[in-house]
Amino acid sequence: MRKKIVAGNWKMNKNSSETADLLTQLMSKIPDTTAEVMVSPTFVNLAEAVKQLADSSIEVVAQNMHFAEKGAYTGEISSNMLQSIGIETVILGHSERRAYFGEDDALLAKKVDAALKANMRVILCFGEELQDRKGGDHFKVVESQLKNGLFHVDKSQWGKIVLAYEPVWAIGTGETASPEQAQEMHAFIRETIAAAYDQDTAQIVTILYGGSVKPANANEIFSKPDVDGGLIGGAALVADDFAAIVAAI
Ligand code: PEP
Repeated sequence: MRKKIVAGNWKMNKNSSETADLLTQLMSKIPDTTAEVMVSPTFVNLAEAVKQLADSSIEVVAQNMHFAEKGAYTGEISSNMLQSIGIETVILGHSERRAYFGEDDALLAKKVDAALKANMRVILCFGEELQDRKGGDHFKVVESQLKNGLFHVDKSQWGKIVLAYEPVWAIGTGETASPEQAQEMHAFIRETIAAAYDQDTAQIVTILYGGSVKPANANEIFSKPDVDGGLIGGAALVADDFAAIVAAI
């Protein structure tokens, strides 16, 4: 049975007191669930968030990390630094990191390796842009992101991998991939993994959908057989909305 996950990507939102407020609300509003629930405050608020959620089942995860263990990389954060404050999961390859910070598949492959070497769990994001979908290239683009960023990873490490399919045209736009489009791509992702590895690996990996998931559409998206949860942006910043999305899983 695959793990279900609902993860909030807070991006560059919420200062220290706002973070504490939102976490307090989430602790009281998130319903009991067998799914894993994650939140990702900004780096400067991670340590406090870990302390605040110490007795909660909500996991605090990071939005990014560097591939090096330490050294002359001004402004960067390593796996060791994250683990030293209790963070064991990192989101990598979000489309905003790819678009605004030049992160490509080759760099992401190094980050994936660094996280796995540290025994961290990776949520790897990928997805096509609007022009790819319009041109009918979305499957090709996703396949190439997976091959170049992830498929060098040994099969034994896949227990630490979570995938997040996020069509770029649906992120923060209010435009959601239809549940059928999400299902079609998630099924394709599993086929691609099965071809590169095997059916067991393909069937066990959790694949999240991300892109304008809201309380109003979460039920329908999560009802699709190959959608194992969501990576939530805007709606993760509103306690009632995030709680409703968790309830939908
Ligand atoms: C995201 O940033 O990962 C995301 C899915 O954002 P939104 O839900 O706001 O589209």
